[in-house]
Amino acid sequence: MFRAHGRFGAFRERVSTAATIGHSRTFPGDKESMKSIKLLSTAGLLLMSQQSLSQFDTNWDNSEATINRISEHVYRWGGGGMGGINGLFVPTSEGIIVIDGPGSPCSPDAGQWFKDELEARYDVPVRYVVLSHDHQSHICGTMVFSDTAVSIGHKKIRPHLIREGRIAPVPTVTFEESLDIDLGGVKVVLHYFGPTHSDNLIVIHIPADGVLFAPDLGRPEGQLPNPDFRDMDVDSTIEVLGILARMDDVDIVVPGHNAPLSTQAYFRRYQEYLSTLRERVLDHMVAGRSLDEILELVSMDEFSDYTNLGQYHVPNVTSMYDYLYRYREPNSPGGMPIRVPQ
Ligand SMILES: [Zn+2]
Repeated sequence: MFRAHGRFGAFRERVSTAATIGHSRTFPGDKESMKSIKLLSTAGLLLMSQQSLSQFDTNWDNSEATINRISEHVYRWGGGGMGGINGLFVPTSEGIIVIDGPGSPCSPDAGQWFKDELEARYDVPVRYVVLSHDHQSHICGTMVFSDTAVSIGHKKIRPHLIREGRIAPVPTVTFEESLDIDLGGVKVVLHYFGPTHSDNLIVIHIPADGVLFAPDLGRPEGQLPNPDFRDMDVDSTIEVLGILARMDDVDIVVPGHNAPLSTQAYFRRYQEYLSTLRERVLDHMVAGRSLDEILELVSMDEFSDYTNLGQYHVPNVTSMYDYLYRYREPNSPGGMPIRVPQ
């Protein structure tokens, strides 16, 4: 069952049409839910018994393709040939919700390993594929579920998927601000808070488990999430990071890349980093300095707890300059060099 919150009637109508696709039956309880999910493979049973001993996984080794249970209802998958990108899935008694699809090398059947794993573990199909944003590395291969699943994304994702020729299904269900998916008694809430890293990035919240999936806005502690600010609205991102830091019912933040799991404190720290970098670069631009001078002068040493700061510093300053070049008009435009993309 879908429940959408948006500004436009046409959008609500579209989603209400999709509601006939989903189940709206309430499921009696979580224990019953787990009972009805048949774990067919020995590996799956082993995984369950390990989890009952060690609770949930907060860390994993990316050198191997793995499935990790991170909370009562939510599993992470990725690693091995799929690289360091994380996808999630939520199995329920009425079907599985897949969120993103790190297929690598990217090809139409890149998600086949994952599809085979799900078919071996559960006797219900994938009902929904949620695309966090249009970037190929996060969604490649999700079309392997098109035989049973409806694809869902933000309304602005569609033109990007089509124009860039992404290897992913173009969503037939889109939304503007938020969308609830209720399946098998589990609620998954999709939120769009405005343009951030792309104009269509959403975050995925499973409130009952306190899990928030925030690809490319969250990373493990000590890692900057974005090599540069291409396809990014920096000012809106600074605002949205504040919203994410204050969201209720969030105990675990799942990053879009790497391990371990993170927390909401990550958002506040990255917000400080972005705001500080923005102010420093902007001050130098207003003072009439060139990009080369700014690259010499700007230091972000108080953020040296980010282990990739050195690697990302030059592209971060350069792309912040590019962003702010489009943000302001100098008093003496002739005194500022016209920006030529490098
Ligand atoms: Zn991305």
